[in-house]
Amino acid sequence: MKKQDRILLAHGSGGKLSHDLISQVFLPNFANPFLERLDDAAVFELSGESLAFTTDSYVVSPLFFKGGDIGKLALCGTVNDLAMSGAVPRFLSVAFIIEEGFLVKDLLRILDSMKSAAEEAGVVVVTGDTKVVEKGGADGLFINTAGLGVVPPGTDISGSNARAGDKIILSGTIGDHGIAIISEREGLSFQTKIVSDCAPLNGLVSEMLKASTEVRAMRDPTRGGLASTLNEIAQQSRVGMEIKEEKIPIKEDVFGACEMLGFDPLHEANEGKLVAVVAANAAEAVLSAMRKNRYGKDAAIIGEAIEGQPGRVLMKTTVGATRIVDMLVGEQLPRIC
Ligand code: MG
Repeated sequence: MKKQDRILLAHGSGGKLSHDLISQVFLPNFANPFLERLDDAAVFELSGESLAFTTDSYVVSPLFFKGGDIGKLALCGTVNDLAMSGAVPRFLSVAFIIEEGFLVKDLLRILDSMKSAAEEAGVVVVTGDTKVVEKGGADGLFINTAGLGVVPPGTDISGSNARAGDKIILSGTIGDHGIAIISEREGLSFQTKIVSDCAPLNGLVSEMLKASTEVRAMRDPTRGGLASTLNEIAQQSRVGMEIKEEKIPIKEDVFGACEMLGFDPLHEANEGKLVAVVAANAAEAVLSAMRKNRYGKDAAIIGEAIEGQPGRVLMKTTVGATRIVDMLVGEQLPRIC
């Protein structure tokens, strides 16, 4: 990136340009070994305890959508980023940037759904902040959450731990969140059927870790979708990946909506799904533990990490061809989360 370049919406896509921004602009200024792991949460030792720490901001538009709202999203997103490092999420902060004129009843509705999500996830909001900006200074409401979790002893989960031969497990159907948001935004005819998958995944993760100590990497495929997440893990771990299109769970409505809109479902955002890379001999045990959990009932092994093609993700399509699965390059849908 050149100094005269400007920030584009695509720099917030979670895809290729987001990664360029991080690696070329942010990382050189904050370089340290915790940040350089490029995982969903930083993991470090403090007073003999292994902790995970993460933060995330939410700018989703619209604020309310089928299956959730900005509050539930902000709560679950941070819980999930902690859970992806194997941590048990404990304490959260919540900061609100509110535009002048925002309705208190809408704020109460958002807080109510945050409260329910916090109860389900077993986390406590222990600190917060409120700022109000002039009309036009924010689009209604933005939320930032940060979270702290405890990593159980012996847990070592990172996007850089995948090895050739490991199985790739996806916890359920892809694209539900992205399509729920776009249909809400555009008032499309299919909007009644598609619901965001927004959910806290820490319970699912704890069942997985109970089933095996050989879960090596986990990540939630949010912005940038499954394709970006697999590329990230492949690059961090310097392995290739081969997935099978026919194994990837997707709802018929979501697939149809993607076809209609010209979207690749592999790039669609998810807010209640995870990808896990698991040692081959443990994959079936982890899969069956996942399927017993409500958020993992459609879990499937979608492929494996391979020896050749380090950093590259390949997909065998339903028609038998092989194609390269790239990170999202432009911006499919801004302000998805
Ligand atoms: Mg994440």
